[in-house]
Amino acid sequence: MHVPIIPRDRAFKKRLREELMKDNPYAAHWVDAVIRTAYSIMESWRKRYLRGRARKVKPRIRRRFARCKITLMKIDYQARTIRITLKQGEYLTISWRSTWFEHRVRDWIVGEVIIKDDRIVIPFKSSEEIYVRRVIGWDSNELSLDGYEPSIGFIHVDLKPLQSIKIVYERKKAIAQRKGRRELYEKYVRRERNREKDFINKLSAGLRMLFQNTIHVFEDLDKEDLVSRKRAKNRRKRNARTPWKRIHKRMSEVALTAYVDPSNTSRECPRCGYVVETQEGQIFECPRCGLKMGRHKVASINIRRRYLEEKRRKKRRARMRGSPTAMNQRSL
Ligand SMILES: [Zn+2]
Repeated sequence: MHVPIIPRDRAFKKRLREELMKDNPYAAHWVDAVIRTAYSIMESWRKRYLRGRARKVKPRIRRRFARCKITLMKIDYQARTIRITLKQGEYLTISWRSTWFEHRVRDWIVGEVIIKDDRIVIPFKSSEEIYVRRVIGWDSNELSLDGYEPSIGFIHVDLKPLQSIKIVYERKKAIAQRKGRRELYEKYVRRERNREKDFINKLSAGLRMLFQNTIHVFEDLDKEDLVSRKRAKNRRKRNARTPWKRIHKRMSEVALTAYVDPSNTSRECPRCGYVVETQEGQIFECPRCGLKMGRHKVASINIRRRYLEEKRRKKRRARMRGSPTAMNQRSL
């Protein structure tokens, strides 16, 4: 495999900028924003390519967008407006006054605005201090979300309602497709999406409310393909109907989350550390110490412990370096 090299020298960047400036009707800052975005797209493609996750083709964006640099925006928090400079003397003004979210973002700070063809995305940021009192390890399964935290015990979240949404719409979509009714088919696709989204939002909001001051630890599903192929197949089966990535993403938006390496989480004995070879059935049985426990429970314990161990390791490493980050991490 060849390692793609992305040119970063000053001369190249200068030439690139000059080239793009030739037919740029907008303010020069926009060109810099475009270059920055292009670099970040190339960089993430490069990383994915090196990990075998992206093909050897130039990355393309499906829908165009523009990231608005802070220097191109003027924000009036009193009037709740953002003025974006398109070119000298020409502006685009957006307001979030009287929007449905106005009260929710009071005293928050506006981040980098993204302009799309049909809409504008305004990220709002706020900072609050959260005292972490609990760490819950969550095992993401096809029909359930299974958690563990010592002061609570085991937590079981039933995901069958989400499955039934999927099954109902799979049938409806199949019928529409068989009859060749494209519009109806697309209507079902949209409805399914909406119902799924609604379920995920309610699930995340519920978990956030029930478990406050908590770090929710999940398996890092991006690392999943790296484990053996047979197990990857099992995982795929698990993820076929349950939109785990969307659930994890939503959880990150509403609560504190962390992700750990998913390998062996349901094959390692939480009592003695022995790793069993095969994983068949719902019950975990340790040949060394004799522990017998539900597989999802085993996984949730391991996921939680893995996070805590990683955190301890990082702290130790930072302390050994004696760097100022050590201080920061200790205070965290
Ligand atoms: Zn054991």
